[in-house]
Amino acid sequence: RDTRIQKTKTVCTFCGVGCTFDVWTKDRHILKIEPTPEAPVNGISTCVKGKFGWDFVNSEERLTTPLIRRGDTFVEATWEEAFDLIASKLSQIKEQHGADSLGFISSSKITNEENFLMQKLARGVIGTNNVDNCSRYCQSPATDGLFRTVGYGGDAGSIHDIANAGLVIIVGANPAEAHPVLATRVKRAHKLHGQKLVVADLRKHEMAERADVFVRPAPGTDHIWLSAVAKYIIDQGWQAEAFLREKVNGLDEYSRFLQTYTLEYAETITGIKRETLMEIARMIRDADGTCILWAMGVTQHCGGSDTSAAISNLLLISGNYGRPGAGAYPLRGHNNVQGACDFGTLPKFFPGYQLVTDEDVRSKFERAWGTPLSDKPGMDNHEMIDAIHEGKLKGMYLIGEDMAWVDSNANHVHAALGKLDFFVVQDIFFTKTAQFADVILPASPSLEKEGTFTNTERRIQRLYQVFEPLAGSKPDWQIICEIANRLGGDFSYRHPGEVMEEVARLTPLFAGVSYERLEGYKSLLWPVEADGTDTPLLYTQSFHFPDGKARLACVDWVPPVQMPDEYDLHLNNGRLLEHFHEGNLTNKSTGIQHKVPDTFVEVSPELAAERGIVDGMYVRLESPYGKVKVRAVVTDRVHGKELYLPMNSVSDEGAVNLLTSSFTDHITHTPAYKETKVKMTVL
Ligand code: SF4
Repeated sequence: RDTRIQKTKTVCTFCGVGCTFDVWTKDRHILKIEPTPEAPVNGISTCVKGKFGWDFVNSEERLTTPLIRRGDTFVEATWEEAFDLIASKLSQIKEQHGADSLGFISSSKITNEENFLMQKLARGVIGTNNVDNCSRYCQSPATDGLFRTVGYGGDAGSIHDIANAGLVIIVGANPAEAHPVLATRVKRAHKLHGQKLVVADLRKHEMAERADVFVRPAPGTDHIWLSAVAKYIIDQGWQAEAFLREKVNGLDEYSRFLQTYTLEYAETITGIKRETLMEIARMIRDADGTCILWAMGVTQHCGGSDTSAAISNLLLISGNYGRPGAGAYPLRGHNNVQGACDFGTLPKFFPGYQLVTDEDVRSKFERAWGTPLSDKPGMDNHEMIDAIHEGKLKGMYLIGEDMAWVDSNANHVHAALGKLDFFVVQDIFFTKTAQFADVILPASPSLEKEGTFTNTERRIQRLYQVFEPLAGSKPDWQIICEIANRLGGDFSYRHPGEVMEEVARLTPLFAGVSYERLEGYKSLLWPVEADGTDTPLLYTQSFHFPDGKARLACVDWVPPVQMPDEYDLHLNNGRLLEHFHEGNLTNKSTGIQHKVPDTFVEVSPELAAERGIVDGMYVRLESPYGKVKVRAVVTDRVHGKELYLPMNSVSDEGAVNLLTSSFTDHITHTPAYKETKVKMTVL
């Protein structure tokens, strides 16, 4: 296999757009990435990460042997030694402190099947629902807002369908950099087909520059302007009367609730002129279909769930669900963050969003797995960190998540991880998080295994093995099975396809999913009926509630966290086009690293002039939780007292989460990364 030139289909390992392409290889060399017209999402496109971001697979920094802590150092161990130690320590902690003293953190970088196995290990072998994934850091609030209003948490339609919208509104998202191939669809529809574009963001990024209307609401105030636009539409009698009467509950109560959200109030709080809000309302009225796209600029706030519900409310009152070119599009960040949630690595849900508290559901899984299951919802990532500090959580098994840099308030997280009695980290690199581990297990990335990923539009796609696992490493699904079996489980799967068969049997959402139906470039958008019929567009018949009707949510604005006056600058944060998240994959790519060698902070020209800052100068940013040292880039992408710090960093000195706090969305506990204030000193 390794001596000939091979062509293998895979799914991009980076963002939630879910591009697919052929990887041409010889031995372990990647010769080229070739997108094909068969690719359902991207066709012949990719972005720079999908094309050039793969050097990490053959990086010399890959872990190739299990490591076990001996005092302050790690020693190499065999897989048998590592598995035996893990089994004995997890059993011991469970015996002494109970199953709920153990926590399991899964990953959006691993496959759907691997996520299924991780939650089955936690629930069916250990006996706890303490299992979560990195959606807690990003999109849980969007899912919650949609659960409350329309019933499913996923994107309402397909990425292709966004191009059919008459109007696209982007709130707190930067798809030109974070979801590039999806952004291309909007750019093309806007430029060539007359699609209108409204962008609300703190930063004048590429999509903002292209927009027909660009607004910069004050940080954390999106809920207010969205609700004011909804009120104005109703006040003018522009609401979708027949749609509301037939398909939506709660219009009278919602109309009364909106009384506070006048244009005047919105202008005062958000800074957006009332005339602009009226114009946005008119654009929604006149558009043949409106799609609203949003991401972390909305969700990573104390009121992120409620703002997501406000977005859905606006779509409901304007009749923008259940028809082509309309609907809610929360943009998922990681390539498989949607799948990690769908396949059950959440503390309240079995796969397919079946509640652990539902007796019928639980009985079904108990019969299938032959063991009693806990009916107590588990702890999420955020609660687990607090529980470690409180001495309640003693042991943790974490896969593919650099929690030490990705979670907010990094110093607080580092202190927690250092207190664990036993900590297993499974990754492809020796991450910051691995430094706190007792056992480190070398895993294989997506090119070295088979399985499926689910992208932002609910599309399930197969990936095929390109290389054998790097010598010494193993695919995550095999490692989980080995650990489960040593703990008394019966995880005798020979291939991820057998895992998917079990998922389909137990999960109505995936009833008709099979590897045969996903062969090659074929794909399915859930829900998938038993006969294989999938659902590119949700809510065409009814909403996902028992009476089939959507629910307008009356939820008030949650003001952002207040900080002492000395922290006078608002620090926004997010991705860059070239790097992916914390950067530990893309910073192994020579070309990308050459282009963007490290992080930096964007400073507005007016603030730079006031503080005597020029391009390239080092500055110190300090919040109540920590400090970083980075170079300044002076740019009008930001304005006034706004700063922007990308989340990738090659050094500990520039990690954004040294500055963020432990405040969270009040419903989902997603960190309020976007509610960070700092002071800045020139070095
Ligand atoms: Fe990969 Fe996203 Fe780029 Fe597509 S847009 S190639 S999925 S990073």
